[in-house]
Amino acid sequence: MPTRYDCIVVGAGLSGLVAARNLQRAGHRVLVLEAQERLGGRMVGKTLPSGQWIDLGGQWVGPTQDRFLALLDEYGIRRFPFPTAGKKVLVFDGKRYEFDGFFEGFPEGEPPSVSPEEWQDAMAAWARFEALAKTLAPGHPRRDAHTQSLDRQTFAQWIDANTTTAFGHWYFAYMVRTVGFLGPAEPGQVSLLHVLWGHVCASQAEYPEAELIHGGAGQVPAKLAAELGQNLRLGEPVLRITQAEDSLEVETTKGRFMAQYAVVAMPPHLAGRIVYEPPLPPLRAQLTQRMPMGCCAKVLVAYDRPFWRNLGLAGLAIGNCPWIELCADSSDPETGVGVIAAFIVGDRYGRWQALGEGLDPAERRRQRQEAVLGDLASYFSPEALSPVFYEEADWPSHPWIGGGYAAFMPPGVWTSYGEALTAPVGRIYWAGTEMAERWPGFFDGAVRTGEAAAAAIHALLI
Ligand SMILES: Cc1cc2nc3c(=O)[nH]c(=O)nc-3n(C[C@H](O)[C@H](O)[C@H](O)COP(=O)(O)OP(=O)(O)OC[C@H]3O[C@@H](n4cnc5c(N)ncnc54)[C@H](O)[C@@H]3O)c2cc1C
Repeated sequence: MPTRYDCIVVGAGLSGLVAARNLQRAGHRVLVLEAQERLGGRMVGKTLPSGQWIDLGGQWVGPTQDRFLALLDEYGIRRFPFPTAGKKVLVFDGKRYEFDGFFEGFPEGEPPSVSPEEWQDAMAAWARFEALAKTLAPGHPRRDAHTQSLDRQTFAQWIDANTTTAFGHWYFAYMVRTVGFLGPAEPGQVSLLHVLWGHVCASQAEYPEAELIHGGAGQVPAKLAAELGQNLRLGEPVLRITQAEDSLEVETTKGRFMAQYAVVAMPPHLAGRIVYEPPLPPLRAQLTQRMPMGCCAKVLVAYDRPFWRNLGLAGLAIGNCPWIELCADSSDPETGVGVIAAFIVGDRYGRWQALGEGLDPAERRRQRQEAVLGDLASYFSPEALSPVFYEEADWPSHPWIGGGYAAFMPPGVWTSYGEALTAPVGRIYWAGTEMAERWPGFFDGAVRTGEAAAAAIHALLI
């Protein structure tokens, strides 16, 4: 007789691994099925010959992300402060400013010396944005007249109506593209309601980038998987889930498995690729067609030392350069190597991906690298042109992820289909950072949804 599992978890990203581990710890028979030949989904790392690690997916953690912090503490994984000492850099419309402040989603400290009119424009709009965010009720947005009026608008419409200068306009567009607010998305693609909600439940004002992890976040999946032993099958995409009254059957490219329950732990658009029998309820099926992944490539560039510190710079730079709108020092003080993580987001990603189209892959890569290093030189100094290591994590090209950092809601989706986001369908439960009410889009949100799915199924099994 084939094993009949208590629960099959589909997807070995952070949310799926947490769900499976918790169920197994509670004494249930669990099987994890993962499409890729590796663990971790958007949580993936690599160690360089120098011993320095890099994270190709997520890397930062913040002080109020308590479920993810608890996981790190449980496995004895050490953290260190995100290095921010020194001047930050803004390059705006070709002019370079060094300043002591910070505005990753909210302004703090000394502002860059753009004109007072431009700064005031951005700050006045920021105050209106915060006031509007305060009108939302806690939790996932529910449909009412107020949320519907917000959900009808794109964030671009709000920006157009609330800023008058080029800098004010860019300030908000930059935030929705690069930091927080989920996505990243171009302002014209995302619902105003979604951006406001992201600001409430995953606020940059809570410093989600306060710390980095010694050895990288990419080490976490293997720790979770070690507890699962043989109950994890890699390279086995799930194709179909068939529910019966008292059980379900999960069909992969290599076999069929029976269980009482399933947790599908992945972004909604990937969950929508699986065939369900009976078919998903129409609202859920529609939702999975309407939550695109953000558009982001992450580039890791290593130098033999963090040269920017000798220039008095923090290694944190933002601006409307052609390719890189945000880059940050990601060097582990225990290795001495300098590492910059740089993000190519939104429409910039499409232009960057198309560089050298039609040429051979090596030349295309050379052109993409030249583009990235050119921007880093604009932010820091020409020393940026001579890295010892360069790697691209091209998430939109990834067949089993499809983008990053996370999925977002275009206009109208929250208020028409949002109720289907987390509702179980028969014996199928949903996990994944996109489903979280707190810290969606982050590791912490993934942990929370994995824990919640495991708790719900445990309650049914005992
Ligand atoms: C570039 C980048 C930077 C980020 N930065 C940060 C950060 O600094 N801090 C932070 O907190 N978060 C960050 N994030 C977000 C964080 O990585 C994610 O929120 C988290 O890892 C998501 O975990 P998950 O389990 O929800 O989904 P995923 O990691 O996407 O896992 C889903 C899994 O399901 C598998 N799968 C898909 N389809 C099937 C199928 N049919 N059958 C079987 N398996 C399937 C996939 O292969 C994948 O392994 C970043 C993400 C990216 C991409």
